[in-house]
Amino acid sequence: MTEFFSFLKLPDANSTYGSSRYVIFGVPFDGTSSFRKGSKFAPDAVRIAWDNLESFDFSTGSDISEARICDLGNLKEESAVEFAVDSVETVTRMIKADGRIPIMMGGEHSITVGAIRNFRNCGMIIVDAHSDFRESYHGNKLNHACVTRRALELLGPNRIVSIGTRSVSREEYESEDFKKVRFISAEEVREKGIEYFIEEIRGIVGDRIYFSIDMDGIDPAYAPAVGTPEPYGLKDTDVRHLLKQFSTEVVGFDIVEFSPQYDQGNTAMLAAKLIEDFISINSSKLNP
Ligand code: MN
Ligand code: MN
Repeated sequence: MTEFFSFLKLPDANSTYGSSRYVIFGVPFDGTSSFRKGSKFAPDAVRIAWDNLESFDFSTGSDISEARICDLGNLKEESAVEFAVDSVETVTRMIKADGRIPIMMGGEHSITVGAIRNFRNCGMIIVDAHSDFRESYHGNKLNHACVTRRALELLGPNRIVSIGTRSVSREEYESEDFKKVRFISAEEVREKGIEYFIEEIRGIVGDRIYFSIDMDGIDPAYAPAVGTPEPYGLKDTDVRHLLKQFSTEVVGFDIVEFSPQYDQGNTAMLAAKLIEDFISINSSKLNP
């Protein structure tokens, strides 16, 4: 299997696969990105940014270098979305079957579908500006604009919360299935505060959660380098609060849609920090 993977590795990923609890891998795929491509370069940009973060976490008192992380490197670059999604499904299935937590660095959002094929009995939290609820886009049901619709088919109604919503087409909005996902708009979060929604989210997603962060859910002021930027978004700390509340229940995690060539470095750092926060919070609650 190793011949499929590249060699740039996260500095704190010092575990072998066999002794790891968290297994990180990159997916260099941006084939269906409709506006600003380049998310296929994100995994290595996140690894480089991570190198500048402190291993010790002041807020939890834990040290991420002791969290038992293995970095598999990047999957082979695929030309078609079907192949990219299938290889994500295969790798994620292996990691889950071995009792470890998969952490995927995209790539565009379409790849999430491959991961959640293995988490059909779970709830899901999606951070995203877009509803991603099209039945099909540019003739393809696996387009990154269709992720939440595919998630609904896989996980079922009233199991998914998408938060940060502010870009929805009329067709999506009027679709009969739209109410089967709880879309929490960025505006609602700004008016009421993120804490207001925690118990509602918990009631929907349950205690086994797949967590997917489309970086464009966060305001472009914090995360400008994304494939499809959208103004008036969530604060970076809103997402961090979600991680604080839900990381213990998370069984699979991804971060997608970061396009490094539009970055001054802040989006890369935020993406790295969100992954680090997820691992720190998840592991510190396991070993308090
Ligand atoms: Mn998305
Ligand atoms: Mn989006």
